[in-house]
Amino acid sequence: MTLAGRASGDGTISAERDRCVGAGQCVLAAPAVFDQDEEDGLVRVLDERPPVSQSDAVHEAVRACPSGALDLR
Ligand code: SF4
Repeated sequence: MTLAGRASGDGTISAERDRCVGAGQCVLAAPAVFDQDEEDGLVRVLDERPPVSQSDAVHEAVRACPSGALDLR
């Protein structure tokens, strides 16, 4: 399943939950933008259109994700 929104600020972040392995690196990098599901541990996108102030954190999350589940456009 893909979660996506429309672009604003630095772009739109989407997460491919089928690829997520629940490593949590995205949550560590950008806790205002990502969370992990309490039941299955997989990524949840809290803010699909994060503000520019979150840009560095979001880029770091995309870089750190070990499964390539995150896409910033
Ligand atoms: S860093 Fe990647 S694999 Fe880990 S929880 Fe986030 S999206 Fe899933």
